[in-house]
Amino acid sequence: MGLLIVQKYGGSSVADAERIKNVARRVAESARLGHRVVVVVSAMGKTTDGLLALAAAITSTPDPREMDMILSTGEQVTIGLLAMALQSLGHPACSFTGSQIGMVTDAGHTRARIKRITAERIHAALDAGRVAVIAGFQGTTEGGDITTLGRGGSDLTGVALAAALKADVCEIFTDVDGVYTADPNVVPDARKLPRVSYDEMLEMAALGARVLQARSVEFAKKYNVPVHVRSTFKPDPGTLVTREDHSMEDVVVTGITHDRGQAKVSILRVPDRPGIASRVFGALGAQNIVVDMIVQNISRDGLTDISFTLPRADRTRAETVLTGLAREIGAEGVAADDRVAKVSVVGVGMRSHAGVAARMFETLSAEGINIQMISTSEIAVSCVIEDKYTELAVRALHDVFALGAERGV
Ligand code: ASP
Ligand code: MG
Repeated sequence: MGLLIVQKYGGSSVADAERIKNVARRVAESARLGHRVVVVVSAMGKTTDGLLALAAAITSTPDPREMDMILSTGEQVTIGLLAMALQSLGHPACSFTGSQIGMVTDAGHTRARIKRITAERIHAALDAGRVAVIAGFQGTTEGGDITTLGRGGSDLTGVALAAALKADVCEIFTDVDGVYTADPNVVPDARKLPRVSYDEMLEMAALGARVLQARSVEFAKKYNVPVHVRSTFKPDPGTLVTREDHSMEDVVVTGITHDRGQAKVSILRVPDRPGIASRVFGALGAQNIVVDMIVQNISRDGLTDISFTLPRADRTRAETVLTGLAREIGAEGVAADDRVAKVSVVGVGMRSHAGVAARMFETLSAEGINIQMISTSEIAVSCVIEDKYTELAVRALHDVFALGAERGV
């Protein structure tokens, strides 16, 4: 008896007709091996960005319901084309939209959350010997309005379907061939990891390793869905994202990640009294600006500095909000800096091994790199440094934690 496999192909894997035919061949191969295959696809190439730009040319305050009406069209094109490509190979296939498979979400347009998946039509298609080709990223409200699941949401569709169908594995096909000990473009001897735990993958996703959408990893962890990240263009196995086991804890550091998409904002000489932080971050939250690291200095003369990092794209908005607020709360001013990067060391082994942070700081200091901010979690230590030292820092840390060398897994 074959397996039940959910395969998800991202935008770059289906960017043009040739690539869609290539995907069809890979899907047909799995089906010929006797597996039942459900395929989830993204919109072709940069289609979603194009649709967003179109909407932006009409209005700067788009109605989220209408936004979803537009965004959901991208994936609908891909499913029709892929089903046709499979049929051309002589393999029965049928495409379905989110609403056709009963992907029911809340009404949080453009970032909807999945409530349930009925999947009846998928079962029927599989029972009839067809490949079911599903539009990723989209769902429907109870009332029948189209919703989308947030950027990168096709990963979530894949994982959620694998959970709902109790599939043996969710394969995420993409243009990288797995999860590496560091970005191979930065560290030439970075190694592909055969396995990582859900928690490590979550940290890496949040810390800038753009392999899987973070929400999809949370979902995979919750429902214990094995996720295999692999290349669309090569046959080799990739990285299995899976439940943590004892052997993983023996390895202290699994990988080094970096994120250059951040900016640092400081509010200078803020009166140090109750309610200030709440006003500052309340004001940012009201603008939907999500901050990451926050540091507040000890005050000496009743005044303190508050610094935080945020996505670089939100920097100007944050500055505008805070410049007004700074005046109201009697702060001296606001300073922002785009030339920062966050470098992190990640590994579940940190739970049981001390000294990782100290070694990281020592390594950065030996390279003459100043640490501007630090944050830690149970399985990660992150430092904000000056942008131009990113490569140097990542390479030095990769070396110090011996990630390039062969090691037991
Ligand atoms: N097409 C959507 C996006 O670009 C969903 C996805 O690709 O996962 O965000
Ligand atoms: Mg994607």
